[in-house]
Amino acid sequence: MASTPEFQHTVAKTASFSGTALHTGDKVTLKLQPAPVDHGIKFKRKDLQDEPTIDAKIENLKTVERATTIGEGSVRVHTVEHILAALLAMGVDNAIVEMDANEPPIGDGSAQPYVDLIKRAGVIAQDEPRQFFNVREPMHVEAKTGALLVLLPDDKFRISCTQAGPNNRFTQFLSMEVMPAVFEREIAPARTFVYYEDVKPLMDKNLIKGGSLENAIVVRGEAVLSKEPLRFGDEFVRHKILDIIGDLALVGRRIRGHVVAVKPGHATNADLARSIAREQTRRSALAAPRTIPSGDGGLDVDQVMQILPHRFPFLMVDRIVSFETETKCVGVKTVTINEPFFQGHFPGHPVMPGVMQVEAMAQVASILLFKLAKTTSRIGYFMSADGVKFRKPVLPGDTIFVHAELTKSRGERLAKAKCHCVVNDAVVSEAELMFTFLDK
Ligand SMILES: [Zn+2]
Repeated sequence: MASTPEFQHTVAKTASFSGTALHTGDKVTLKLQPAPVDHGIKFKRKDLQDEPTIDAKIENLKTVERATTIGEGSVRVHTVEHILAALLAMGVDNAIVEMDANEPPIGDGSAQPYVDLIKRAGVIAQDEPRQFFNVREPMHVEAKTGALLVLLPDDKFRISCTQAGPNNRFTQFLSMEVMPAVFEREIAPARTFVYYEDVKPLMDKNLIKGGSLENAIVVRGEAVLSKEPLRFGDEFVRHKILDIIGDLALVGRRIRGHVVAVKPGHATNADLARSIAREQTRRSALAAPRTIPSGDGGLDVDQVMQILPHRFPFLMVDRIVSFETETKCVGVKTVTINEPFFQGHFPGHPVMPGVMQVEAMAQVASILLFKLAKTTSRIGYFMSADGVKFRKPVLPGDTIFVHAELTKSRGERLAKAKCHCVVNDAVVSEAELMFTFLDK
C-alpha cells in the first residue's frame, strides 16, 4: 500500500474556453474555477436562475445513452465524462465547472481541450489528504451486450481494456497506469468514435446538431471517416479508457485498483461506479463508532439543559463533545426509534425529519451564542435559515455529530452560524442560520 500521504488538489486560477455543445449545437463557454478541500467536482449552470450546481456523484447519474448525464431536480448536465476524466487524471480533486449551457463544449471529441484548460489554470496542492477507495477483493459487473468490468486489488489506479467493434472488427487492447503524464500523452488526444448505423437515426432526427466529423470519428463498415487521420492506430481503445476514467470519477474518491474491461460502455462503467459507492457506504457504516469524550472541553446533558430551555421531546442535543475555539463546537445527538417524530414520519419507513436536524443545528449554535454572550439574561432567537440542504436520510440508530461555527456577529444584535450534521463520516445536512438577541 502506498504510504506517502497524497494531498487534495485544485486549480490555481480560473481558466475558460468556448466551443459548440454536441447535442444542441449552441455556443457554450466553460469556466474552470478553484474550490476548497472536500468540495469535489461540481457543475454550475450559469445560464439558469439561481445558478444551480450539480455534484459530480454517481447518485446524481441520470442517463448513460451515448454520453453520461448527471442531474439534480430538473437540472441536467450532459456529456460530463471527458472533462471529469481530464480532471481526475490530471490530479484535480476540487473544482467548479461553470457553464452557460447544459453541456461542455465538445471540442474535437477528445479530452485534449480540457487538459489544455487545466494546464492553463494550473494545479495546486491543498492541505487535506486525498480520499481513496482501496479495492480489497475483486468486484465485477457485466451486461447482456458482452460488456464486462472486473476490479482487482492494486496499489495503483490501472486500466487494462479490450475494445471490439461489431463482428469483432477493430479489436484493440491497451493497459496503462492512470497518471498525469501518461494520460496527457496516450489517452487525452483519443477522440470519440461512433458507428454509422448508431448515429444515422439521430442525425435524421436532428438530435446531434453539434456533431460533425470535426468532433467524432465515424466507423462505417470497414471504413473510418474523420476530418484528420487517426491519431493512434488503436485510438478506439484509448477513448474507451478515457470514458472509463471519466465515468468512474463519479465515485468521488480516487481508486486504488486495477480495472480490467472488456467491451466497456457508459452503462457498465456506471454500474461499477455504483457498486464501488455502495461498498464504500457499507464500509463507512461498519467503521467503529467514534468514542465520545466526556469531562473537560465538553458539556454533559445537565450542563446543556442549564443553557438551553428545551426539554424532551424537543431537546436535540445529548452532549457537547468539544469546543474547538470560542466560536466552534460539536454536539452529539443519538437518534433512537423511540423519538416521537418517527411515529408519523413515515410509519414503516422511519426517517428523521430534516427540520429536526435544522433544530439540532440551531440548538448547538445557541450554546455557542450563550458562551459568547456569557449571560443568560439575553437569549438568541432563531431568525432564518439559508442554504439548507438535506443530503442523506437519517435513520433510527444513527449518531449525528452536529458541527456549528459562528461566522459573523454584527454588533450586539445579530449572529450567523454555519452548521452541518455528520453521520458515519458523511455530511447528511447543512444550513446557515441567523440569530437575533433579545432580552429575556
Ligand atoms: Zn467518450
